[in-house]
Amino acid sequence: MIDIKKVRADFPILNSTVNGKPLVYLDNAATSQKPQVVIDAIVNYYTTINSNIHRGVHTLSQKATEAYEQARIKLQQHFNAKKSFEIILTAGTTHSINIVATGFTSFLKKNDEIIVSAMEHHSNIVPWQMLCERTGAILKVIPMNNEGELLMNEYDKLLSHKTKLVFVNHVSNALGTINPIQEIIDKAHNVGAAVLIDGAQSCPHIKPDVQKLDADFYVASAHKLCGPTGVGILYGKEEWLNKLPPYQGGGEMIKQVTFEKTTYADLPHKFEAGTPNIAGVIAFGTAIDYMNKIGFDNIAAYENELLAYATKKLLAIDGLKIYGTSKNKTSVISFNIENIHPYDIGTIIDKLGIAVRTGHHCAQPVMDFYKIPGTVRASFSFYNTFEEIDLLYNALVKAKNMLC
Ligand SMILES: *Cc1c(COP(=O)(O)O)cnc(C)c1O
Repeated sequence: MIDIKKVRADFPILNSTVNGKPLVYLDNAATSQKPQVVIDAIVNYYTTINSNIHRGVHTLSQKATEAYEQARIKLQQHFNAKKSFEIILTAGTTHSINIVATGFTSFLKKNDEIIVSAMEHHSNIVPWQMLCERTGAILKVIPMNNEGELLMNEYDKLLSHKTKLVFVNHVSNALGTINPIQEIIDKAHNVGAAVLIDGAQSCPHIKPDVQKLDADFYVASAHKLCGPTGVGILYGKEEWLNKLPPYQGGGEMIKQVTFEKTTYADLPHKFEAGTPNIAGVIAFGTAIDYMNKIGFDNIAAYENELLAYATKKLLAIDGLKIYGTSKNKTSVISFNIENIHPYDIGTIIDKLGIAVRTGHHCAQPVMDFYKIPGTVRASFSFYNTFEEIDLLYNALVKAKNMLC
């Protein structure tokens, strides 16, 4: 059970006003708000142990290194990775995907095939297109139906001995659909392809078990699960991370450097060149602890209630259409109201203190599929309330009356 009063008190920003109205924050799929413990973790780091990691023999550096490595262990446990060095600390999902996409350049040849889904975020499309340009590999797309669900029989047809990589998001940020990733992974492995799962949108709602899934790579960003921006993970199976070349050269990622030859450091340091966002990583660990304390089962149960309530409420508005109606979805509602541009709705309800996303949500192919320029997206988190959904409903009715 979520003690909503107690939970909301953990987030200082939820107590603020916007345009003279109490903030109703419904843009959680873009980034989540941060609880005080996470903010404190950042402040504490800079106030008490700020120093560079893995280098100094002095006490502060050792303390900072210990806190940083502790965060890695928390992440290992959370994602259930076999080894802590299979958790590479990155600048976020986009960075993690680029490490893999760039690393695969030397593994692919002309006419090899890469499969992505029709509902990917741009950060899970563009790096693969760039990889195809470099290697002559071909990008194939798993199509979806009107409900926003992947057509798995079409996926079966795309798979062959030519398939080298499959990249699919666990949850679509534009539609909220939870994709059948276990089936996607198992079938890819049957033809010998590697699989990367983009977990940026699933991790705020679902605790993934990378060993059970048998994912080759799983990536996520801290900022969508109550952590700071500019931090994320690349989980990779040890064998894959050993095979992949480093992405960036620099300090921290080497064993030995001479002008003739450099040897790379062991995992995870091979992929962690330069001074990282130390405070951010430590605070990511705090955020994971915070969410686990609330409990992902509790979070999912409560968010499902919010989703059901909001779906029913919004559909009562004449002319409102929801995109992404899979039974298997997280608490995201993408919608339009007949004859009104999503941007106009977003602007009017912002004046009423309500923060939603409008536009293509970095998923233009999804918008093209529905032949729309964009949607309004309301996304709910475990700290949102039923009263806030009522406020959204009232604001939408007001906006509709003003614009129609
Ligand atoms: C947010 C998001 C990304 C990008 O995450 P960054 O933190 O901006 O790198 C990628 N994929 C999905 C599905 C997302 O929701």
